[in-house]
Amino acid sequence: MEKPFAITLDVGSSLANQTGSWRTERPTYVSLLPPCNNACPAGENVQGWLYEAEEGNYEEAWRVLMRDNPFPAIMGRVCYHPCQVACNRAELDEAVGINAVERFLGDQAIKEGWALTPLVPDTGKSVLIIGAGPSGMSAAYHLRRMGHTVTVKEAGPMIGGMMRFGIPTYRLPRDILDAEMARITDMGVTVEVNTKVEDLQAEAAKFDAVFLAVGAHIGKRAYIPAGE
Ligand code: SF4
Repeated sequence: MEKPFAITLDVGSSLANQTGSWRTERPTYVSLLPPCNNACPAGENVQGWLYEAEEGNYEEAWRVLMRDNPFPAIMGRVCYHPCQVACNRAELDEAVGINAVERFLGDQAIKEGWALTPLVPDTGKSVLIIGAGPSGMSAAYHLRRMGHTVTVKEAGPMIGGMMRFGIPTYRLPRDILDAEMARITDMGVTVEVNTKVEDLQAEAAKFDAVFLAVGAHIGKRAYIPAGE
């Protein structure tokens, strides 16, 4: 068939005529951690609790945060917030103030008396934790949440470890520290202070598992010439 003048296309679809918008690349959906989560040493679901906080659901925001980190009022004060260093928003204007929101949620929980209970019935398993510092108390919290019976033995006179003996009070007021520790003991965790474990094997035999959280109490030296 002879084409009429000025018609350049063949009869047929755009597929045959190669007209329309033709893609050579297509986006692929990839599920990755946001940079804030990825950078958080406590593994917090940052965007999860920020979402709830932005909606004004502060208690739910706190509960999402507490799934990973039992110390929001403490971390909201002392963490050097690598999440904010990683925040993409900093490329545009400035990073989201994640640390400040975390502190607010932690303080709100203390003020309102929000509490937590184990997520499951008692498992009948017992765990001994040696050391009542951040590692030991955090493990105690998570294990208790999972229904285990937890006993913490601490050689020192108080719980908190380096949070109490290493961080100055102007940075971490002790009533805040005490409140976040008390919340864990209120869940049913037993803490025995002034109890140094001398015979680990004998102690371990009384429990199903042991977690050693003896801390990092060795100070770092600053080699200053003529320091003396
Ligand atoms: S400020 Fe909070 S969210 Fe950010 S890195 Fe520290 S603990 Fe994680």
